[in-house]
Amino acid sequence: MRKTILAVMFAVLASGASAAAADMFPSHPITLVVPFAAGGPTDAMARILADHMRTSLGQSILIENVTGAAGSLGVGRVVRAAPDGYTVSIGHLGTHVANGAIYKLGYDLVTDLEPVVLLPSNPMIIVSTNAVPARSLKELIAWLKAKPAPATAGTAGAGSGSHIAGLYFENATGIKLQYVPYRGTAPALTDLVAGQIDIIIDQTSNSIAQVRAGTIRAYAVTDDKRVASASDIPTTDEAGLSGFHMTLWSGLWVPKATPKDVIAKLNAAAVAAMNDPAVRKKFEDLGLQMPAADNLAPAALGDLQKAEIAKWWPMIKAANVKVE
Ligand code: ASP
Repeated sequence: MRKTILAVMFAVLASGASAAAADMFPSHPITLVVPFAAGGPTDAMARILADHMRTSLGQSILIENVTGAAGSLGVGRVVRAAPDGYTVSIGHLGTHVANGAIYKLGYDLVTDLEPVVLLPSNPMIIVSTNAVPARSLKELIAWLKAKPAPATAGTAGAGSGSHIAGLYFENATGIKLQYVPYRGTAPALTDLVAGQIDIIIDQTSNSIAQVRAGTIRAYAVTDDKRVASASDIPTTDEAGLSGFHMTLWSGLWVPKATPKDVIAKLNAAAVAAMNDPAVRKKFEDLGLQMPAADNLAPAALGDLQKAEIAKWWPMIKAANVKVE
């Protein structure tokens, strides 16, 4: 009996303490773990978002780039952090879906994390170094097919967005690629500009500035509509690879057992950022697509993540991707 009373008292005190912690949240800086290299597409999205979130939350947000193994090391860092909302994971279809089909992660992408909010989506863009002689997607495909050795395709590691897009491209065209993994597509892009690799199926927001500057060549965006801020680039449908569509959605997660009120505060701050016209303009200039207004509750991201696991894991497992 005494034990039961004590247990009840503890439970009441503990829930009071966690409610108080949520009330005060955030009382010190938050760390946002970017699992890819600085200067790449996930990093760029994180920094634009964090700039606005820090004003509405009244706390600084530190960006920590924890790179390697297609983002799975950075996500693991958040899984193991205290479930208090102070360590947040930003990731995408690669880190929070594909990696589970490729790596022995030591954590479960669904049950060890709580979804916070869906972030903008990035159509992919097929780009090559300027030395490639092709001038259209059809010519690029013909060149890739005719090459005696497979062309080199830069990726952010096995399971990253650029790698899944490459597998999908191989499936759609019958072409074999030789993947060159980097710690993010920022360093891959530097090598593409320098002619060290042949192509990247990149996130549009990463390549767009180099395409505009003429330092690399774009062949198509992998969506059914053109990117408003780069409307001269055809869609894959227009360029002859009909139905080859892929947009890489992103999201925020926190460790499982993070209090719901803390998640709600992070969610509200991220939604406020995405609703801010200046933030939207920055995202849209990069070719990013804003999530639908009715898809911004934490559960919408959780549902999407589960649906994407069901959709992508069979294809990724069938590809039998080898990792160290
Ligand atoms: N999102 C990765 C990055 O920021 C790239 C990728 O997944 O392909 O570098």
